[in-house]
Amino acid sequence: MKLTCHQCGTLLVLLRTNTPRYAWECPRHCLPAIDTGVNASEPFDEFEGAEQGNVEFNATLFWPPLSQPRVLTAKVFMPQILYHFIECRRFSCYNSILTNVLVPHLDCVDVVDYVLRSPVVHTAVDVPVGKTGARIYTELWHRLNQVESTKIRQYLAENFRVSGGHVGSHPRPLPDSQ
Ligand SMILES: [Zn+2]
Ligand SMILES: [Zn+2]
Repeated sequence: MKLTCHQCGTLLVLLRTNTPRYAWECPRHCLPAIDTGVNASEPFDEFEGAEQGNVEFNATLFWPPLSQPRVLTAKVFMPQILYHFIECRRFSCYNSILTNVLVPHLDCVDVVDYVLRSPVVHTAVDVPVGKTGARIYTELWHRLNQVESTKIRQYLAENFRVSGGHVGSHPRPLPDSQ
């Protein structure tokens, strides 16, 4: 899935200048830009075509140890990484992204909320809808709760009104092991 505007469907563009931090924004300015949290003066590893949605952000791009510019790539392109993660059917890739990227580096609530408000999480009666309109699968809720960022875990707990670690009853099918 490409990173598009929830209002008009246009591909979001990466703001690099005249902004304190890298941010994704609809060229028609439908919605507030998504702040990636990464200082726009810091260089990251560039991938040709990434901003056009032509790069598959799978685990192979993030084998540890990650250099600092590669960590910043992960943070700037975290929406694309989350889209891949949610749709990934390869168990090894899914697990590597979780362990090497999401657990240590996912710390931006706006990014998570934007992705969870997109059709990447299918609407169903047993898929919980949060206060912000975000949707989450039970499996995904548990995985994202493994991240180190307390901001993210607080968002998951508060947005989805979870108590006792249970949310809904709809397990996301586990990716096929291989
Ligand atoms: Zn738009
Ligand atoms: Zn994958």
